[in-house]
Amino acid sequence: MSRYWTSLEDLYSENLLTESSEIETVAREFQIKVSPTMQAQMADSKGGDYDALVRQFVPSKEEANILPSELDDPIGDRRFSPAPGVVHRYEDRALLKITQLCEVYCRFCFRKEMIGQKGETLSKPDLALAMEYFRAHKELWEVILTGGDPLVLSARRLAEALDALVEIDHIKSIRIHTRIPVISPEKITDELLNLLESIVDRGKALTIVLHANHASEFSLSARKALLALRKRGVLLISQSVLLKGVNDSLPVLTDLMRTLIENGVKPYYLHQMDLARGTSHFVVENERGIALVNALRESVSGICVPRLIIEIPEGEGKRVLA
Ligand code: SF4
Repeated sequence: MSRYWTSLEDLYSENLLTESSEIETVAREFQIKVSPTMQAQMADSKGGDYDALVRQFVPSKEEANILPSELDDPIGDRRFSPAPGVVHRYEDRALLKITQLCEVYCRFCFRKEMIGQKGETLSKPDLALAMEYFRAHKELWEVILTGGDPLVLSARRLAEALDALVEIDHIKSIRIHTRIPVISPEKITDELLNLLESIVDRGKALTIVLHANHASEFSLSARKALLALRKRGVLLISQSVLLKGVNDSLPVLTDLMRTLIENGVKPYYLHQMDLARGTSHFVVENERGIALVNALRESVSGICVPRLIIEIPEGEGKRVLA
């Protein structure tokens, strides 16, 4: 299995969907992409956690249900964007949205209006402008590479950004938000590992924030990729999204958080869903999310407990719920 599923035809032929005009409309709004590794994990989990994977990556008619409260920029990035690809919302840290491409297109994505072919990878002149901004803003302690998924880029392309950041004295910490180590672990190549290790060797703290939502996403190759990253001195922490029908139960969350720790990843954030368009079928009410995290705290080792976070719409920032 080495081909990506990128179209409704792919999903019809795998019997993951039946043809309908509603689903065609949904697919026109937001692209489809399922990596070969996730296809294999689905095949392995048939009868078990199959639905938890399918629900994350295969479109459903429910996506056509757009509520008035849902927004195309739910966390308000645009308001805080002083340069292309840059979001500077908090004083000491800024985002660099370096690419809008991903290895999978998650149906619940809070940036679904911007990622995929609707966006693109930052051009060299825009990257230079972003670096100019970071250089000029001495209050910045950390730059966070996000997207899209920054690790879809080649090591050579990533090096253009990372090497430039290393040269900025006041930037002490570089963070990369990614789903790649579990979704497409073959992209954690020696070339990439060498690059990441060189950032650590040059005196910067390097953190990978792994996005994973279910223990069944962790293939043997994913586990090896995470170990390889740890061996190169990269700090690994996680972010997950609390998703109805995927991980909204105590046994599933317990399994996920323990799997993260077993692979050297500290559970960090569990996010409540943002108000992205067509995602209400994934929403778990706040009270239920708080109860789940409190129950987790009572039943598992403290190192397995993430913070439950909600993003206040339109750029007002994060709030800790539990
Ligand atoms: S990998 Fe991240 S940015 Fe890409 S679709 Fe999934 S949640 Fe969105």
